[in-house]
Amino acid sequence: MHDILVIGAGIAGLTVALKAAENGMSVLLLTKGAKPDGSTNYAQGGIAAVTSPEDTFESHIADTLEAGDGLCKKKQVEILTKNAPNAIEQLIKWGVNFTTVKDDANSFDLHLEGGHSFRRILHTADLTGKEIMRALLAKLKQHSKGIDFIERSTVLDLLMQKSRCVGAIVAEQNAKKARAIYAKTVVLATGGAGQLWLHSTNPPDACGDGFSMAYRIGAELQDLEFMQFHPTSLYAPQLRKTFLISEAVRGFGGILKNHKGKEFMNDVHPLRSLAPRDIVARAILREMQLTGKDYMYLDVTHRKAKDIKTHFPNIYAKCLECKIDIAKDWIPVVPAAHYMCGGVLVDSFSRTTINGLYACGEVSATGVHGANRLASNSLLESVVFALRACKDIEKNCLNPDFKLSTLNSQLSTTRDVRKLKKEVQTIMWEHCGIVRSMDGLKIGLEKLKKLEKGATFEFRNFLESAKLVMESALKRKESRGLQCLTDYPEKNPKYLKHYTIKRK
Ligand SMILES: Cc1cc2nc3c(=O)[nH]c(=O)nc-3n(C[C@H](O)[C@H](O)[C@H](O)COP(=O)(O)OP(=O)(O)OC[C@H]3O[C@@H](n4cnc5c(N)ncnc54)[C@H](O)[C@@H]3O)c2cc1C
Repeated sequence: MHDILVIGAGIAGLTVALKAAENGMSVLLLTKGAKPDGSTNYAQGGIAAVTSPEDTFESHIADTLEAGDGLCKKKQVEILTKNAPNAIEQLIKWGVNFTTVKDDANSFDLHLEGGHSFRRILHTADLTGKEIMRALLAKLKQHSKGIDFIERSTVLDLLMQKSRCVGAIVAEQNAKKARAIYAKTVVLATGGAGQLWLHSTNPPDACGDGFSMAYRIGAELQDLEFMQFHPTSLYAPQLRKTFLISEAVRGFGGILKNHKGKEFMNDVHPLRSLAPRDIVARAILREMQLTGKDYMYLDVTHRKAKDIKTHFPNIYAKCLECKIDIAKDWIPVVPAAHYMCGGVLVDSFSRTTINGLYACGEVSATGVHGANRLASNSLLESVVFALRACKDIEKNCLNPDFKLSTLNSQLSTTRDVRKLKKEVQTIMWEHCGIVRSMDGLKIGLEKLKKLEKGATFEFRNFLESAKLVMESALKRKESRGLQCLTDYPEKNPKYLKHYTIKRK
């Protein structure tokens, strides 16, 4: 019996595991794939925090609220921003190396990103997530006694006893059986849900499993209608996995253009190419429709080749692999599903509405993002609220008073899961994409329901999470932040509230 069962080993799960082990708690850490497998590993841009003397918490708070379009929970935003320097310090203590200014190892090289009023993005070149995962996984090895880590273990369901979450049902890869695992406390850190859409920047394990599992045991979910579409994923059909062109490239001076070189953002927003993501994503989509093209361009050729290669070595190399020299050529870009702002509702210590169950990272809805996330606030949110979860768990970690029972259930995988997932992704892209309509959402939901019959264990969470997103989108009859409806194009003060979904 471990003190904590952590489901997911991205930045949120690893932060919980490391901190808990440091504080003497025993941890069982499970991950769906082989480490490192979550979105964290792909984060390029960086992590936001006030670290320069010119910058202020007030400014970071104001920028976050502005992006959130009226729906951020202000108290949570204050916690996020004011705890950011500590979170950075913790990451550095665990061995994360952020890029520093040339010739001054004591000053961080801070990037500017869309929606931020100051340079406040700490980064490790354009491979920030990879560096964070490297450091945290290295640290994990030092806690080999306190943390048991099992890879390739997919959690299918959460276990309840006496209205408390007491564990999970887990299938190990290739095993045709599932088993029950019990713990005093359970932490969901399963990441986002980008894979529910046809075009996504997220890795294969980001299927929203945490949403459906929490929903089934009666947890409340919030703000699931707010999926952020990243405006600039690389348009390269030859790639098997979508590749992101970080927001930092626009912060670095990248200009969005159509095929004729028209800087179409000039007529859209005063910040032009650096406007908030939702506005840029919709403008790109509209320009694609107007010009009949499959993509638009991002141009950084006016910057020195040496600087481009120094700041964006990973992006430079990946584009070159696709025969695009970004120092000379415009980068073809297209929007893709990127970040889920909503999720399992939590309070300021990451407690869900179910006893014994915490949620941290992208799977959670802390309310800091409101209707739209400010760039680079999500890695930060993961660390800040994971550390707070640990504090609370330490205080409230109970001795078990529940019955352990064994489970040896046979799993069936009769239907073609890959094909079914593609169907869901296509429905989500067509009916619950960047621009939506009420009729489209209703049709989409009906199409999803038709896939329910005989859904096997692997597919059930995927389908159910897609339905939860679609149902949330149907509740908000206005356009706000990331929810853009053709039939309700304006914001409506009547809807200035959070929508919660809970199993009846
Ligand atoms: C391409 C890309 C670039 C990004 N860039 C930035 C950036 O620059 N700055 C920023 O702040 N944010 C960025 N983000 C967002 C950020 O990376 C994520 O929000 C953050 O990493 C989420 O961390 P997490 O720990 O919650 O989840 P993840 O890192 O996604 O980890 C989730 C874990 O849960 C496991 N899991 C999932 N389902 C199950 C299951 N059923 N059973 C067992 N395990 C399961 C997965 O295997 C994985 O280990 C980016 C995201 C992407 C995709």
